[in-house]
Amino acid sequence: MSDLQVRPRPASMGEPAARGRFGEFGGGYVPESLVPTCHEVEDAFRDAWRDPGFRSALDTLLAAHAGRPTPLTPAWRLSAELGVTLLLKREDLTHTGSHKINNVLGQALLARRMGRPRLIAETGAGQHGVATATAAALLGLRATVFMGERDVERQALNVFRMRVLGAEVVPVRTGSRTLKDATSEAMRHWVGATADAYYCVGSVVGPHPYPWMVREFQRVIGDEARRQCAAELGSGVPDLVVACVGGGSNAAGTFAGFVDTSARLVGVEADGGASVSRGRVGVLHGARSLFLQDDDGQISEAHSVAPGLDYPGVGPEHAYLRDLGRARYHTVSDAEAVGAALRLARTEGIIPALESAHAVAWVIRAAEAGELEPGSTVLLTLSGRGDKDLTALMELM
Ligand SMILES: *Cc1c(COP(=O)(O)O)cnc(C)c1O
Repeated sequence: MSDLQVRPRPASMGEPAARGRFGEFGGGYVPESLVPTCHEVEDAFRDAWRDPGFRSALDTLLAAHAGRPTPLTPAWRLSAELGVTLLLKREDLTHTGSHKINNVLGQALLARRMGRPRLIAETGAGQHGVATATAAALLGLRATVFMGERDVERQALNVFRMRVLGAEVVPVRTGSRTLKDATSEAMRHWVGATADAYYCVGSVVGPHPYPWMVREFQRVIGDEARRQCAAELGSGVPDLVVACVGGGSNAAGTFAGFVDTSARLVGVEADGGASVSRGRVGVLHGARSLFLQDDDGQISEAHSVAPGLDYPGVGPEHAYLRDLGRARYHTVSDAEAVGAALRLARTEGIIPALESAHAVAWVIRAAEAGELEPGSTVLLTLSGRGDKDLTALMELM
């Protein structure tokens, strides 16, 4: 029942404190040579974000290219089964099929404004890589995407998709040859390429100003949903706001629209990638945050059926929101997520990304356990569509 306790504490989700701090988390732990570059990105973002010209250029791209605003869809049949009112924020309906496009369009516009003709990105299963390649093509930039060799083998279709879009994909052969190593390699490459390249980070992670900037670029989810909820619900604000958490960008963008309300904020992690729920404080990829670590402080590998939740860390602002008690975090197993994906498919005609299915699974579990007041209103961000997961589902069914 602990989720029903409202614990109002100040958490505005505004600008981080000095040097990019969210409480004890965040900051900018980068090699000396990247310090001026991070300052330059921060100054450029600060300047762009208060420039109505930049805002309107981004809004135009989000509308004309990405298909915003995305609808708010009541999950009619599942709501009736669960005894709650479940509203789905449909990021799965954006161009390229997930919320990642909101962030990459913002950063690609910023790169162009900074006079950087090339985007560098890391990618795990390829979703952020594809989004980056898409934004680069749209704005006439080049893209270099670092991807662990194992992921390159497993995700041949996304590798090809990036190449069709004109991006260069660089296989990373170090370490476990997955996302963590691709991120380290992308940062190493950036050190030697800051004159022409801009590092486009895929979630609310990395050194300051990225966690703040990416959350601001994803805030569009929460701001739109706030207006749509006001129109949809008599009371105006939902009782609960729920989103899945990998690095935490779709959740942060969603929470930002509701942090100043009475809504309870719930982040849902994969059991095998539960950095908020089970991680320990450490520094990786430029920020102090919570990471899965072994007893010696070595970063452990994350494992999830949902490729986007397969990162052993989480954005620093989530660690802070947890410490404040303003957001709560729960975990869901692979099996529960798959079950929830199938249930949503069969009740609503929507096949969600397995990442998003984690959020659905938590709502189902909480409602069926009687932990949600009957008649509660729940806003859930459906971060992406499930087409990319169909082969994985085929093997599991
Ligand atoms: C990448 C991804 C996620 C996880 O990233 P966050 O930064 O936590 O939002 C979630 N859902 C989908 C569909 C994704 O592609």
